[in-house]
Amino acid sequence: MESIYNYTFDELASYFLNKKEKSFRAVQIMEWLYRKKVRSFKDMTNLKKEVIIDLETNFNLDFLDVEEVYTSIDGTKKFLFKLKDGNLIETVLMKHNYGNSICVTTEVGCNMGCSFCASTKLGMVRKLDVAEMVLQVLQVSIYLDEIKEKLSNIVVMGIGEPLDNFDNLIKFLHILNYPKGLEIGARHITVSTCGLPNKIREFAGIDLQVNLALSLHAPNNEIRNQIMKINKTYPIEEVIEALKYYYEKTNRRITFEYILIDKVNASKENAIELVKLIKGLNAYVNLIPYNEVEGNPYKTVSHQQAEEFFSILNKNGINTTLRMKHGDDINAACGQLRIRKINNG
Ligand code: SAH
Repeated sequence: MESIYNYTFDELASYFLNKKEKSFRAVQIMEWLYRKKVRSFKDMTNLKKEVIIDLETNFNLDFLDVEEVYTSIDGTKKFLFKLKDGNLIETVLMKHNYGNSICVTTEVGCNMGCSFCASTKLGMVRKLDVAEMVLQVLQVSIYLDEIKEKLSNIVVMGIGEPLDNFDNLIKFLHILNYPKGLEIGARHITVSTCGLPNKIREFAGIDLQVNLALSLHAPNNEIRNQIMKINKTYPIEEVIEALKYYYEKTNRRITFEYILIDKVNASKENAIELVKLIKGLNAYVNLIPYNEVEGNPYKTVSHQQAEEFFSILNKNGINTTLRMKHGDDINAACGQLRIRKINNG
């Protein structure tokens, strides 16, 4: 039996049309699933009995099992979910002064091989299906409802490379955005990629105004090759070409994420080189002090180093924010918890 949470509004509508039912049923079901957040088809009280029986025969409403929930001193929460096949994934809930955001995982593990990242250590086991992504958001949103808090943003920055799981990602985004459901505005959703040029071009064509972020992390190919294996296949110039296409087509500003790793990419020279690389691209830079990973040699930067890097970009007219770390004490950087759990059994 398939999860109902795999279905977009359009898919549900055609499901009912095929059964000679009114497609309006799909609106009702989306409301029950994502507005009223019911857990059983019987609770969908405006549906006919035959429709309820049909749904019960063909779909399940199973949630992900919550293996553990960790809370950090700064209020960040990390949900470790167990999938039906036993795989573990992580979802992070971050509290900002402007609201709550959820960081969503798209794959079990990752194949991109960034050397600083905990998610990629064991490679990719499999891609998540649509329901497994949707349920991360739905279940955390139910937690937020319980504590009377609002969900304001979704960042697709958990474990995995979202553009590598493209079709499921797009369906997931449509479900989040559906107006009579969770209704998360596209501008409140950010998808982060390590930089797959063809997929970035394809992403430019989707009919949702979501934000795109690129994990740049280096001012040149030499450094990027060292820390991001994908750069050997798609060097910076090719990624930037794709981003220019994306910008021309969508007119949406791109965010560059740049983690600051001591003695790797965080010197003043690196900052100056970064300015040269992205000046004129109408980009926005998010600087993030590296979150150290057990067993990795990389070290984070001091506050002062981060401020210096920031001020060089800022002085040169690059729109920059210096993002402080969240949930350091609970290993909230992607994949850290999953890896610890796998290692410690
Ligand atoms: N694969 C996508 C999305 C997942 S990673 C991507 O590459 O963008 C989300 C972000 O966290 C990326 O920018 C990634 O490089 C960064 N990241 C990974 N490990 C980190 C760590 N230990 N500290 C800080 N940021 C990290």
